[in-house]
Amino acid sequence: MDQVKIFSFGGGVQSVAALVLAVKREIDFPVFAFANTGNDSESPETLEYLEKWVKPYLSDKNVKLLTTEKRNRAGETVTLYEHLMGNNRSISIPVYLPSGAPGTRKCTVDWKIKPIAKVTRSLGASKKTPGVIGIGISKDEVQRAKDSQISHQINEFPLLKLNLTRSDCGGIIRDAGLPVPPKSSCWFCPYKKLKEWQEMATHNPTMFEKAAELEAKLEAKLEAKRGGLGKDGVYLTRRLVPLKEAVLPCDQLKLPLYEECSGYCWT
Ligand code: SF4
Repeated sequence: MDQVKIFSFGGGVQSVAALVLAVKREIDFPVFAFANTGNDSESPETLEYLEKWVKPYLSDKNVKLLTTEKRNRAGETVTLYEHLMGNNRSISIPVYLPSGAPGTRKCTVDWKIKPIAKVTRSLGASKKTPGVIGIGISKDEVQRAKDSQISHQINEFPLLKLNLTRSDCGGIIRDAGLPVPPKSSCWFCPYKKLKEWQEMATHNPTMFEKAAELEAKLEAKLEAKRGGLGKDGVYLTRRLVPLKEAVLPCDQLKLPLYEECSGYCWT
């Protein structure tokens, strides 16, 4: 049996560039797998880009894109957003705690890594014959390249092998006649930069309001975990204040400021 080879497709610049390279047979990945955290969780722009550009582009090509999701024991899809908003005590995403320390992140493993690992296993990957997972890391973020934590998989970084930068990836995508995709992530991801939250507050107030509600829900979960022993705080930004306050310009924020404020606010 041929070795299982799948590219983990996030829908962002590096993944789409890798897809184009696979179509051009410059890298050897016949299957791309998109682990969808949920249609209510992934950035709507990424989902739109998939429908509008990626799927039509692949319609007559040699590369297959499949979608996988986290499922519960009954086989039903569980989206990350509904899990976070649900009646459980799990926080899962990398929130910031009042000390500035990150909360425990489980989302990447549970909603991205494990669903793809299930696919490679179902295709025959095993400890003895591990499947290869292509990861879209470019030269400018080499520090993110890590070994696989899944025993039946090994990681490969084809963009690093080709010495490509993120900007090279943009060129590869444009040369294929596609627009460069927006940044891919969950719309509520705490790794978002402050500027991105501010843009959301201005251009998509409904989504921003939902993010603030999610932050409050996560805080309530933490409070319940502490058995009602007072508020502790869970934040979606490194400013360590509630989201609605965090997006204010620096001079309106009467609290200790963190690195985003040193010249990066509203610029
Ligand atoms: S984008 Fe952020 S919230 Fe979504 S799975 Fe990744 S780390 Fe978690």
